[in-house]
Amino acid sequence: MRQVIIVGGGAAGFFTAINAKEMNPSLDIIILEKGREVLQKVKVSGGGRCNVTHACFEPKELVTFYPRGEKELLGPFHQFMTGDTCEWFSSHGIPLKIESDQRVFPESNTSQTIIDCFLEKTSTLEIPVFKNHGVTSVTRHGDQWMVNTKEEQFVCDALVVAAGSSKQVWKLSKSLGHSVVDPVPSLFTFNIKDDRIQGLLGVSVPQATVKLSNTSLEATGPLLITHWGMSGPAVLRLSAFGARILAEMNYEYQVEVNWISQTPQDTLIVLQDTKKE
Ligand SMILES: Cc1cc2nc3c(=O)[nH]c(=O)nc-3n(C[C@H](O)[C@H](O)[C@H](O)COP(=O)(O)OP(=O)(O)OC[C@H]3O[C@@H](n4cnc5c(N)ncnc54)[C@H](O)[C@@H]3O)c2cc1C
Repeated sequence: MRQVIIVGGGAAGFFTAINAKEMNPSLDIIILEKGREVLQKVKVSGGGRCNVTHACFEPKELVTFYPRGEKELLGPFHQFMTGDTCEWFSSHGIPLKIESDQRVFPESNTSQTIIDCFLEKTSTLEIPVFKNHGVTSVTRHGDQWMVNTKEEQFVCDALVVAAGSSKQVWKLSKSLGHSVVDPVPSLFTFNIKDDRIQGLLGVSVPQATVKLSNTSLEATGPLLITHWGMSGPAVLRLSAFGARILAEMNYEYQVEVNWISQTPQDTLIVLQDTKKE
């Protein structure tokens, strides 16, 4: 029997464990989780509702929603796409619904449904989950891996690293010969000190275009003025697509906001028409 160890009890670790075991029941799989609890991020995802996927069924279109990795994701999406995700959840007892903005959620409207499904499946498939078992080092011995935690040592034939954003595990992966692209923050709001937005806290517009000055980067969508600057989908999207450039700029940059996403010429026509009326 082949032994498989999965490092990390998050969405990726559980999904891998369940699928590997369902496709190959003879595998002996365990999950090692550093924390006291598993699936903690799934719990808070989608505001506690878990936005499972996006109702876009074309791989070529779906990859454009990702700020990076467009080329790398195309192959995997040809193997497992949105339709497969929906099919997977419904065949595992979780009906989904598509909302008007194409986001897909469990019908129950709670991420706990997803957590319960993952826990129930690992239990019925007899996949042990070791909590409080942070992996500290991994070494190769012949055809096997020695996986060390503070508590005990494990041996396996195949190792899956699904530890999310763990600096320790990135270091560990580097020690095994992998190259790790330096991570930078993404999906953040903008801290802006500018008199022009003083006193506008809470003001939101449905369709603004935010442009990063002196670049071709821009994003359109709802924008919100906050205590510290600007937030909302347009800003989050710009920070995600511009993550590397903003890091290179050391987060000192200027943005231009078009509050109505219209050209001056078009705006003038609307104003003149309105005046006539
Ligand atoms: C507020 C919020 C809302 C979100 N909403 C959505 C959403 O609606 N839809 C969506 O698709 N995504 C959403 N995301 C993103 C999504 O939650 C993550 O992309 C996803 O959970 C990542 O799963 P993962 O298994 O890769 O990593 P993680 O969930 O981070 O799991 C990694 C696990 O590995 C463990 N670990 C780390 N180091 C070790 C070690 N050395 N040994 C053993 N275990 C270790 C960690 O403790 C953790 O449990 C949201 C994220 C946040 C923060």
